[in-house]
Amino acid sequence: MIKDKHKSREGIHKRELTVNLPNISIIDEIKTSGRLPSPTGVALTILELTRDPNANIDEMAKVLHGDPSLSGQIIKYANSAAAGNRASVASINDALVRLGMSMVRQLCLGFSVLSNTQTGNCEKFDYEGFWGRSLAMASSCQTLARTMGGVNPDEGFTCGLLCEIGGLALASVYPEVYAKVLAEWDEGSREDLIRLENEMLMIDRNQVTAALFEDWGLPDFYPQAVFNKDKTDWESLSKPPVATEACFQLANILFVGNLAAEICMEQNNERHWRVLEFLNFARMFKLDDDELTAVYDEIMAEWTRMGKVLDVVTGQMPSMSKLLRSARASRDSECSSDLPEGVIDDRHEPVNQGIQPAKETLLDLEEVSHQGLRILVATDCPLHKKILSKKLTAEGHEVTVADDGARALEIAVAESPQLVISDWVMPNLDGLELCRTLRLSPQLSHIHFIIMTSHDSNDELVEAFEAGINYYLVKPLNHNILSALLLGAAREVATREEVERQQVELRRTNAEINITNRMLQTMALEDQLTQLPNRRAGLAGLDKAWAKSSRSGEALLVMIMDIDFFKKVNDTYGHDAGDIVLQSTAKAMKNAIRDSDEICRFGGEEFMVVCPGADVSVATMVGNRIREAVEHNVLDTPEFKGHVTISIGVAVRGKEVEDAQSLIKEADEALYAAKDAGRNKVCIYAPDHVHE
Ligand code: GH3
Ligand code: MG
Ligand code: MG
Repeated sequence: MIKDKHKSREGIHKRELTVNLPNISIIDEIKTSGRLPSPTGVALTILELTRDPNANIDEMAKVLHGDPSLSGQIIKYANSAAAGNRASVASINDALVRLGMSMVRQLCLGFSVLSNTQTGNCEKFDYEGFWGRSLAMASSCQTLARTMGGVNPDEGFTCGLLCEIGGLALASVYPEVYAKVLAEWDEGSREDLIRLENEMLMIDRNQVTAALFEDWGLPDFYPQAVFNKDKTDWESLSKPPVATEACFQLANILFVGNLAAEICMEQNNERHWRVLEFLNFARMFKLDDDELTAVYDEIMAEWTRMGKVLDVVTGQMPSMSKLLRSARASRDSECSSDLPEGVIDDRHEPVNQGIQPAKETLLDLEEVSHQGLRILVATDCPLHKKILSKKLTAEGHEVTVADDGARALEIAVAESPQLVISDWVMPNLDGLELCRTLRLSPQLSHIHFIIMTSHDSNDELVEAFEAGINYYLVKPLNHNILSALLLGAAREVATREEVERQQVELRRTNAEINITNRMLQTMALEDQLTQLPNRRAGLAGLDKAWAKSSRSGEALLVMIMDIDFFKKVNDTYGHDAGDIVLQSTAKAMKNAIRDSDEICRFGGEEFMVVCPGADVSVATMVGNRIREAVEHNVLDTPEFKGHVTISIGVAVRGKEVEDAQSLIKEADEALYAAKDAGRNKVCIYAPDHVHE
């Protein structure tokens, strides 16, 4: 066990923190796709409950009791290494006291999302590997946070567990396109993956993670830290911190935790190199070698342990001393790398390497729906309990029994049955109240509800239907009628689930069509060779600038530029060289204009720049800046060496200019004058003459 120690973070916390704001409309689209990883049942109720300032531990414990598996996970987490050497907790109430309500809320969220998304329909996405890695990340961040201080270890755990959730979300919402992203990426670098996500989906995993974190009400600095963990330029430390210490420390912990997670996921024979990388960065936390070894061992032990608790496939990792021996052996044979000295501890026995065999295969959902229904029977009558359990189980249904209405509600929240068969009169909560409560919950309102009753007066039945029942069974139960009702219920459940499936499918298809549309829109407005806006986009921009200048009276200037003797470039060096010159010239011009100016490719080797706010007094200066930028842009490529020049025609909006088209015509005329004057010149149009 490592002692708590608040290490100096000097030298490692100054990385600039930035958050790239996500494209809001895409985030909305993703949210409405119905495919996002999300918590269900009890975890959702916990999220809701903790938004209520008056919620207390007892209430939370009560809700958590409705999901024994989630409660078990929370209790086991509270007893994990993060909690130190304190006496172990045995109840959910104790766990809540130890961890605090806000932490339990975050853990519920993480565990629930995890258990909900262990499979999915993106062919190329490795769901099992995803959670194995996320858990490795969670264990690493938890252990590092506890050792380093500055961040609550439990926060380290949840943030580590969920920090890549955006990737899973993209795979869930856009399974087909995401499969293409992964195929193209082919296990390349992380930068490549983020770039491909942006190119093919117009959004990346970090942006989606940030949006989900915000949606789930996680602290603001989590997404900031998530963005920053991808920054590997540890040396560019100049900018002053813009975020809190905790945020910096969490970003650092995520960064180093990521390296530890890499060790877990790496293939056996490459693993020792990952260990060196980890040691290298972990040393920046000023840990000595013994401490680093202990941190490593604890991360690995915690990963395996939490894997068992959460039913996630993990591996048993070799000890650090063994990995370092492998690294030394490789270094000796390859004569490379600067392996750190020390950190050798031969007490550790090498253990079985690699990820353990896969879990049992999952059931085919289609088959499950044909096999029978998940039925909750709510009755306090021992005889009915027995008869119904026996008959329904014999017919292939999965049956859970609750002795009273309140318990039935807890089970309904936790297990989301497809059908409830309930007594009318029961202790705690009667059948009609149970039905009314279910109908109020968005997650449970669809459950098919049959009530058993000896009340069969018309008024009473009307009351039952008003409460939301689907049908009623009169006592004493008639087996034939029960079978007929079950058949009807099964048909209705199957139809509803099919409709839901189709809706989800439809939303997914829509989401994918939207990406294609966005790409087409971008392509329709962008010149493929230079990546500048094309003529159409440029003219639209000019129209807007014209309208704005008409409203505000602000000056407006347009320049048309044309490469001099460009035909010669093509004729002498070939068309490919011509293309390279066009690209490079476009870039040079773009770099020479202000952010508020707009440049487009106007035609073959012609470009247009629109400068709002610029008048005749600056026209020559602005034009010459661009002209010189091109003249000084010397290419040194195999295809073309040297530079080209441009001629520029400028027109300034004056009272006599009628519209944007006329302004272009004037700039064009000035361009001709610049060519006539010998090229590599800037000419300005004036009503009666064109001057240089
Ligand atoms: P000037 O100084 O009078 O402008 O002479 P120029 O040779 O530049 O003018 P001209 O209009 O005769 O030639 C323009 C050339 O630009 C002709 C055309 O083949 C070439 N061009 C247009 N678009 C492209 C392109 O996308 N790629 C390449 N490589 N060449 C292009
Ligand atoms: Mg031309
Ligand atoms: Mg030309």
